[in-house]
Amino acid sequence: MSIDNSLKAFEEAQQLIPGGVNSPVRAFKSVGGTPLFIAQGEGGYLVDIDGNRYVDYVQSWGPLLFGHRDESIENAVIEAVKHGLSFGAPTQAESDLAKLVISMFDSMDKIRFVSSGTEAVMSAIRLARGFTGRDDIVKFTGCYHGHSDSLLVQAGSGAATFGNPSSPGVPADFTKHTLLAEYNNMESVKKCFADSKNIACVIIEPIAGNMGLVPADKEFLHELRALCDAHGTLLIFDEVMSGFRATLHGAESITGVKPDIVTLGKVIGGGMPVGAFGARAEIMAKLSPEGPVYQAGTLSGNPVAMAAGLAAISKLKNNPQVIATLNERAVRLVEGMQKEAAACGIAMQIDTRGSMFGFFFNQNPVKNFADACKSDEALFAKFHSMMLEEGFYFACSLYETGFISTATTDAMIEETIKASGRVFKALTNG
Ligand SMILES: *Cc1c(COP(=O)(O)O)cnc(C)c1O
Repeated sequence: MSIDNSLKAFEEAQQLIPGGVNSPVRAFKSVGGTPLFIAQGEGGYLVDIDGNRYVDYVQSWGPLLFGHRDESIENAVIEAVKHGLSFGAPTQAESDLAKLVISMFDSMDKIRFVSSGTEAVMSAIRLARGFTGRDDIVKFTGCYHGHSDSLLVQAGSGAATFGNPSSPGVPADFTKHTLLAEYNNMESVKKCFADSKNIACVIIEPIAGNMGLVPADKEFLHELRALCDAHGTLLIFDEVMSGFRATLHGAESITGVKPDIVTLGKVIGGGMPVGAFGARAEIMAKLSPEGPVYQAGTLSGNPVAMAAGLAAISKLKNNPQVIATLNERAVRLVEGMQKEAAACGIAMQIDTRGSMFGFFFNQNPVKNFADACKSDEALFAKFHSMMLEEGFYFACSLYETGFISTATTDAMIEETIKASGRVFKALTNG
């Protein structure tokens, strides 16, 4: 397999763009090697600029529930383009997509569209602060909510609840209102509430996908809801990744825990840049121009992006069995790989939610970020590059979730399992 063209393209890109990429995770840094430059997608496959084909388990990091070049989404986009790319004025498609999404989430009366997940979460936090008149927020270590300042906070020592910025360029003053708790650990959340009487919201990925796939325990979410209610604090479910992937009607429909605000992204744009946040009318009424909390965007609700989102979400709503079908395939994939790994004496923790799958090379179950960090990173890096050689494109970090699409066939899954068997054998004998 030659990747000469990708090597050359990456060389040039590095001269022009920091690290050669426009989003750091694409750089293959944690697994070594060079990112592949992509020429096109075909259903469940990616084709690089050297003409190599890969079974794609990244699916643009989540958005492509129906695979590359889904006909109905593609046609909807082409049709929309013919009417103009952007108007900066309302269009019917915004209400159509709003109606559709609101009908799928019990907790939503109204929604606002933005252009990325980062923007959706950033705006939801501002709304929660504006609604409650409080400043502090609680987030969980290992949960990712986009790259806005107050959310870019990592764990300090286990004792520190007030966060330190995890990136230079973020003033400590901007993150001093961000309190950190441990995922699936109620005591750590209670400590935050003991430390601050000023908590506007708790934000959580109810099905965490940014420390590998680590779903929250149902009981934990119920306790979180009760604690928030007792303190007049809003609960935000960040479902930018899990929305429309793990389930049709949000995590609230499978956990029985209703959030105050939901943030969405990825699948909601069908591959175009769309994010959204929604809540009950009373909360959304605080948003400008109805209320005083300012939030805006030149390209928000862009007609081409709305057309793609509308095509994707209508297709899902009309084919609700898709989530269960994809989950069967996801389960077959990770169980198959786990069996191959076990035959070679490699311990693998696996989990799935709908079309999301996760695996850790780890002896023990993973319940939080600290557990995830105990996974065998070196083994993952080797697995990643050898699977790539075999023609299977997995996310280039062990802290990422895998995705399948309706274009990921049973045959692709079987081939992947077989290839993983070859790779595990090579890794343990060679
Ligand atoms: C991807 C993601 C974001 C950020 O979305 P962008 O579109 O990359 O800005 C926020 N929250 C979660 C849970 C995500 O997975």
